[in-house]
Amino acid sequence: MEIQPTPTVEIHDPLLVQKGVKLYVKREDLNHTVVSGNKWRKLKYNLQEAKRLGHDTLLSFGGAFSNHIYALAGVGQEFGFKTIGVIRGEEHLPLNSTLSFAQQCGMRIHYLDRTVYRQKAQPEILDFLKDLFGDYYLIPEGGTNQLAVRGCAEIIDEIEIDYDILCCPVGTGGTITGLISGLAGNCHALGFSALKGDFLNAEVRELLKTGENNFSNWTINTDYHFGGYAKIKLELVDFILAFEKTHSLPIEPIYTAKMFYGIFDLIKKDYFQKGTTIVAIHTGGLQGNNGFEFRKSL
Ligand SMILES: *Cc1c(COP(=O)(O)O)cnc(C)c1O
Repeated sequence: MEIQPTPTVEIHDPLLVQKGVKLYVKREDLNHTVVSGNKWRKLKYNLQEAKRLGHDTLLSFGGAFSNHIYALAGVGQEFGFKTIGVIRGEEHLPLNSTLSFAQQCGMRIHYLDRTVYRQKAQPEILDFLKDLFGDYYLIPEGGTNQLAVRGCAEIIDEIEIDYDILCCPVGTGGTITGLISGLAGNCHALGFSALKGDFLNAEVRELLKTGENNFSNWTINTDYHFGGYAKIKLELVDFILAFEKTHSLPIEPIYTAKMFYGIFDLIKKDYFQKGTTIVAIHTGGLQGNNGFEFRKSL
């Protein structure tokens, strides 16, 4: 289960020259030909652990457009696991492109209404799912657990340039926790929350607890969520289209666009000192682009 190494490429922009800041992108969107991005990093050690424990079935949770469910279905099939995706809400037919891909990979899809879904971590629900599907290896929603953190820490090892700040988008906090734990002492991790609210600081602190260090080399910015998870404003759509045209780099609106918007905005506002080198992690998730109307009208 080797992850394809990916390059770190420089972004060229007049603003960067003007502000004396260097910006690179670590192309994690290229780390797998099908699933792409941080979800594959998060799954790698979970798949190994499932195998070690003798499980042949993986079960996890997600929304109908979840990058995690997509990745689980894809790599689950690749490495010979049965997969079960427990999806929030009701079935909508025809299946969207995320779920129809998952089904083509052999994933069994089961829907839970939103009230029940909220209690998905409760033993009664997990037992109910065991009665339905038999024994399984459980992977949390979004794929975040300590094995995921370990997988994401390995992103650091592939970055060969020197940098001061490492940026990534934040959903559950698993990816940034991995980056924080793998970061060199003089570097800082800057996360951009794709969700509203300040609870992510506590989540990351919780995830870091098992480490031996007391990390203080990180910040989560909550100014660029654009209204909250999966909320998209016209301003963000305009940014995406201009960014993709200028830099020939595909991004998506849920996570990576919010991060890049935030980075450019902070550069404009002189948040970074002259001479700073930033590496932004492109966390992939490009499959999600299929679901957006603004893509279809292009
Ligand atoms: C899931 C996801 C994230 C968020 O990762 P977390 O580990 O949940 O914080 C960021 N970017 C993309 C593209 C994702 O799919």
